[in-house]
Amino acid sequence: MRSHYSGDITGRLDGKKVVLAGWVHEIRDMGKLKFLVLRDREGFIQVTAKKGDTCEEVLSAIDQLSKESVIKVEGLIVKNEKAPRGVELKPDSIELISKADSPLPLDVTQKVDADMDTRLNNRFMDLRKPEVAAIFTLRGEVVNAGRGFLREKGFVEINTPKIIASASEGGTELFPISYFDREAFLAQSPQLYKQMMMSTGLDRVCELTTYFRAEEHDTRRHLNEVTAFDCEMAFIEDEEDVMELLEGLVMSMVKKASESDAELERLGKKINVPGKIEGITYDKALKLLKENGKNIPWGEDLDTESEKLLGEVMEREYGKQLYFITHFPLESKPFYTMPCEDRKYSRSFDLGYKGVEVASGSQRIHDPKLLEDRIKHAGLNPENFGFYLQAFKYGMPPHGGFGLGLDRVMMQLLDLPIREVVLFPRDRHRLTP
Ligand code: ATP
Ligand code: MG
Repeated sequence: MRSHYSGDITGRLDGKKVVLAGWVHEIRDMGKLKFLVLRDREGFIQVTAKKGDTCEEVLSAIDQLSKESVIKVEGLIVKNEKAPRGVELKPDSIELISKADSPLPLDVTQKVDADMDTRLNNRFMDLRKPEVAAIFTLRGEVVNAGRGFLREKGFVEINTPKIIASASEGGTELFPISYFDREAFLAQSPQLYKQMMMSTGLDRVCELTTYFRAEEHDTRRHLNEVTAFDCEMAFIEDEEDVMELLEGLVMSMVKKASESDAELERLGKKINVPGKIEGITYDKALKLLKENGKNIPWGEDLDTESEKLLGEVMEREYGKQLYFITHFPLESKPFYTMPCEDRKYSRSFDLGYKGVEVASGSQRIHDPKLLEDRIKHAGLNPENFGFYLQAFKYGMPPHGGFGLGLDRVMMQLLDLPIREVVLFPRDRHRLTP
């Protein structure tokens, strides 16, 4: 339909005929002069009509336009120093393609601020704001960078079932669904399936996946439907091999975001590319927290507040925005986590990014006997894990992996709450749109 995007229009096209299409961002009627701002994916262009110069048909077409209608404009590009980008379009014809009703549910020009609920209820229109659209084009770039990195490292992208018969790992709550005449659940993670893949010989698998978690959160960083990169790799020496991969993956994503100049400019943000990721043990984390006035009893998970405080300490004392926390107490981790020799600690790690957990991972148990013992120890019934344990009995290499929350990475990259970086967030109160 169009010959150019607004972004292509520069002084070099002076005197050229073009066809543009997009939305009516603004209309200003100054009597003899009528200005119309056309918006498309790449930005804005001023369309200027002048009584006596522009044909009557076009002038009356402009009078009838409503804001946010979709139009097609044909015309001549002319240089004009007074126009916002030094160029404007003199229209020969304006075609109304789809009329927008008024009043609008949201003000795209941002003259009136809308609350988050109104924005989410009208997300299609919220994304017409260039700075909101930029979040999602950036997110797409970050996903591509992550995928590209994993492909280069020999990972096979897989898809595992999201409808499952029983809990993958205990702990987090599941959403029950009715599956014909039986009860089933939405998958809280691909954990068991990606581990089973380690006995196939594919060696390295990844999935850009959805987690469904029926937790009644009301925080800035939790949703009930989550997007994450899940990876699992075999023939590792220990969890450090897995951490090295995760570091590379996150760095590739952060680096890509930091280079996305157009999006960052629209968002008015700058992104630091952190240096080498620092690792501290869980015990060291507790010590740092204690020194900073927060006492966490040994064995307990870090709560929101202490995660945040630790992020501040890591930035202040180590200059690190990204850091691993390693060697969590065994009992605080899921049954498939590899214990350390002492059975007190585990070969597990979390990745923190500016005070928020963005990933969790570990070396896994590959010995079927130990695995069964740990399932029982967790108060779960090994019979429910028959299909999983089966994959460990006929040759299972040492392996490990992690889940990296994409929504969390995006929110920390851009310092935004999680609902800003997810198109249609699902939380306790929100099931539409
Ligand atoms: P948290 O302790 O922050 O609630 P978790 O330890 O329960 O998270 P994991 O099971 O370790 O989460 O999942 C791996 C990653 O997936 C997390 O590090 C996080 O990035 C992301 N994630 C998990 N649950 C959520 C959620 N409810 N909302 C957003 N992201 C999540
Ligand atoms: Mg975790």
